[in-house]
Amino acid sequence: MKTFLNHQEIIDKCEKINEQYDIDPGVFDAVVDDLLESEDPTEDVVLRGFQRLLDEVDHEIGRMESFVDMKPNCFMGCAFCCYFPIVLSRMEAKMMFRSIEHFDEHRKQEIFAHWENYFEQNKTKLSEALQMDPEDSETKLAYKRLNLPCPMLNPETQLCMAYEVRPIPCRTYLNYSNPTVCAEQHMPKEPFSYEFLYTFYFGAINELIQVLYENGEDVFVDYPSDAWSYDYLPAWIAKWREGTLHEV
Ligand code: SF4
Repeated sequence: MKTFLNHQEIIDKCEKINEQYDIDPGVFDAVVDDLLESEDPTEDVVLRGFQRLLDEVDHEIGRMESFVDMKPNCFMGCAFCCYFPIVLSRMEAKMMFRSIEHFDEHRKQEIFAHWENYFEQNKTKLSEALQMDPEDSETKLAYKRLNLPCPMLNPETQLCMAYEVRPIPCRTYLNYSNPTVCAEQHMPKEPFSYEFLYTFYFGAINELIQVLYENGEDVFVDYPSDAWSYDYLPAWIAKWREGTLHEV
């Protein structure tokens, strides 16, 4: 039977993680070292690195969960968190879209067709959402209230269409309490965010790209400017569709 932690129990476990769990940056460095030894084409190395480092964030969360003996109650098809704003760097957006371009033809065309409808159907909400300042503390709630789904969310299945390359915010927000809290409130207090892991992941992916770039490899990102340019996922997709993603 599923067990649901209450808010105080979640706070206690998170405090234990904060006080007693040491994140080992070596696990992220090891991925980078391994990839830099690879003789594979640069694009393969970059995309594999992107996915492995994203996966490493999931593994690190799993290790922390084991440390405090808790398991998330998120389940497939529950997508309330896919209405939050997803902010990522232009570098990550380029790696995500390049990964999607490598999906099999059917899957890729399904995504592109979905975007066609998505941008048409959500014009009004998008024009409001994309003007919001991602740095403003009020934005998260205001964006969520718009009820604008993420452009990667399949409206029929309520599943992510690019699950294996979904960005960090999608991986680091987890609910250990009753899933109904996400259905009932825009900003429930119970879910826990491991967003502090972004620093480890980003440091590692940045290092991988930097070394490849300094070695004169074609890394298909404008380094370093792409690494420090942030926007909403729908904004990057819109630019990708217009062919202006490479314009700084
Ligand atoms: S990228 Fe996927 S997991 Fe993340 S918000 Fe969008 S649909 Fe949800």
